Amino acid sequence: MSRDPLLVILSSPSGAGKTTLTHRLLRDFKGAISFSVSHTTRPRRPNEVDGQDYHFTDPESFRAQVTAGEFAEWAEVHGNLYGTRVSEIERARADGKRALLFDVDYQGARQIRAKFPDAVGIFILPPSMDELRRRLESRGTESESSLERRFAKAKEEIEHYPFFDYLVLNDDLQQALAELTGIVHAELCRRHRRAPEAEQLLRE
Ligand code: ADP
Ligand code: 5GP
Repeated sequence: MSRDPLLVILSSPSGAGKTTLTHRLLRDFKGAISFSVSHTTRPRRPNEVDGQDYHFTDPESFRAQVTAGEFAEWAEVHGNLYGTRVSEIERARADGKRALLFDVDYQGARQIRAKFPDAVGIFILPPSMDELRRRLESRGTESESSLERRFAKAKEEIEHYPFFDYLVLNDDLQQALAELTGIVHAELCRRHRRAPEAEQLLRE
């Protein structure tokens, strides 16, 4: 009984904990959910794996793929280009995944929602602006200028929270993960997603 995967969009200001929560969620769902691996022109961080965290590319190739219509959405974020290829969505569909998770900014969230109105939007909030800065600093991945740019943009990102269906406060990680997991389970249990099972019973 295969059906289109639930599309889950995760957004937040940089450093609020999207990546951490995404990794935990993927681990807990043991392969039933897949992650949409974006393309980016940002340099790879030492702990990142090409093809797994991102497909790292250069601006020329990125622009050529935009022209060829290969992106379902793309945007410039913090001075770099980021985008989701249409093929990521097709692959999750072909693999029969129950859900596909996007880690994109609000511009990407809007573009995905415009194409797939059923996509569920979840915005991750940090407990405070001071804690957001601490997390960005403690991650140790950004240069001073990149850190400042990301922090300066944080409020602009948070202003977009009304666009999203759910807000998860990432103060205690376990609590935030429980909330996120609960949302995904609830969305997977929506009547239209479970109707095929009910209809099957009626045919037995
Ligand atoms: P994002 O992907 O949103 O930019 P990350 O997942 O990289 O954010 O998290 C930023 C930093 O904050 C990382 O060092 C991560 O380990 C840490 N972090 C994430 N969630 C929490 C939390 N609930 N409490 C404390 N630190 C956290
Ligand atoms: P980072 O450089 O910290 O990995 O990501 C920076 C920002 O880019 C985050 O807000 C992240 O959600 C966003 N981002 C990552 N991939 C994509 C994508 O494919 N499309 C869009 N629009 N934003 C993305």
